[in-house]
Amino acid sequence: MKHIAILGSTGSIGTQALDVIKANPTLFKAAVLTAQSNVALLVSQALLFQPQLVVIADESKYQEVKQALAHTNIEVKAGREALCEAVVLPHLDVVLTALVGFAGLRPTIAAIKAKKDIALANKETMVVAGDLVTALAKENDVKILPVDSEHSAIFQCLVGEQAPIEKIYLTASGGPFRGKTKADLAQVSFKEALKHPNWVMGAKITIDSASLMNKGLEVIEAKWLFNLAVEQIDVIVHPQSIIHSIVQFQDGSMKAQMGLPDMKLPIQYAFTYPDRIVSDFPRFNFMDYPSLSFEQADIQTFRNLALAYDALKKGGNMSCIINAANEVVVAAFLKERIGFLQMSDIIERCMDRVSFVENPILEDYFETDKQTRIFAEELI
Ligand code: NAD
Ligand code: MG
Repeated sequence: MKHIAILGSTGSIGTQALDVIKANPTLFKAAVLTAQSNVALLVSQALLFQPQLVVIADESKYQEVKQALAHTNIEVKAGREALCEAVVLPHLDVVLTALVGFAGLRPTIAAIKAKKDIALANKETMVVAGDLVTALAKENDVKILPVDSEHSAIFQCLVGEQAPIEKIYLTASGGPFRGKTKADLAQVSFKEALKHPNWVMGAKITIDSASLMNKGLEVIEAKWLFNLAVEQIDVIVHPQSIIHSIVQFQDGSMKAQMGLPDMKLPIQYAFTYPDRIVSDFPRFNFMDYPSLSFEQADIQTFRNLALAYDALKKGGNMSCIINAANEVVVAAFLKERIGFLQMSDIIERCMDRVSFVENPILEDYFETDKQTRIFAEELI
């Protein structure tokens, strides 16, 4: 029985992870559940799954959760620090990082130091500090199991392979604005941006998908997960989201992983790796997709993808800068404080202006994150 902590159990990935756990009660136990502020859902999940501990990150909601679970044996904690305490409980085997943004960094590091395997959904942690996180995982002999569908695809293609990778192709759906011009994008609203053609996800990643920043973050994530040079990572637009990504080896052979778009599969694989278990997830039918198509990404229009490549080439704390700036502009776009195209403009100015650090240590990342947020807010 694997004991799993889910950081962000009330979100899109978190709830799907609980579906996987519920379907396999003899294999998995949800031992820790955490959420930012959705008390009602966290409490109902806790009553159903009976974890050892729940954490509500928003401290003002502590009493509410505590009272709702008063008649149970479930321990309740609150606050950011409690997330780091939650991931080190002795019985835990795996920590699923299904929370959003930079907030994932501290608990991920705490979990690795406590020698817990990481099922990594929170790509922002890898973007910000992939160098430190991968080094720490190696040092502690901890597995980082990708949950992001593209990275799970690459990971699955690499099972059994010893040979070096020539390159990888991360597939991208292109999002709701594929084919649009800059003039079109100047007009789009956050409501249109939230309508993803193939995936239902949290708000932040859905906006990132519309702006292609999600693919940019995934390029950086792939660099660290698979130890690749930037030239080895390519992006190809594949609007049907059936091929989840591709590895090309040095003999020219390509392996792809495919299936219907459903995050439960990569979540479950991260929990069962290196095994696979029976599932009732819907099966792919070829005649529903008589043609799969591919296009070049339009990086002139969707500049975020080019900016992410620039950040990766520059190295140092540049990916931390791009991540922090992006978190701020996405929140501002969702509140209609800025337009869609201004997001890239502000990110680019942050990359030009926030202090560059060539060889950052952990504290530098916290400082960079803080400085970038202040500067991005000023620009907004
Ligand atoms: P979501 O917004 O649906 O859920 C986020 C969860 O994290 C919620 O439970 C929320 O309470 C919690 N949370 C948010 N901010 C927090 C904070 N500051 N501190 C503590 N908890 C916090 O998001 P999601 O779509 O499930 O995405 C989660 C992560 O997984 C993101 O990093 C995203 O990029 C990644 N991811 C998501 C998908 C997807 O299909 N949704 C696919 C690939 C990768
Ligand atoms: Mg993805």
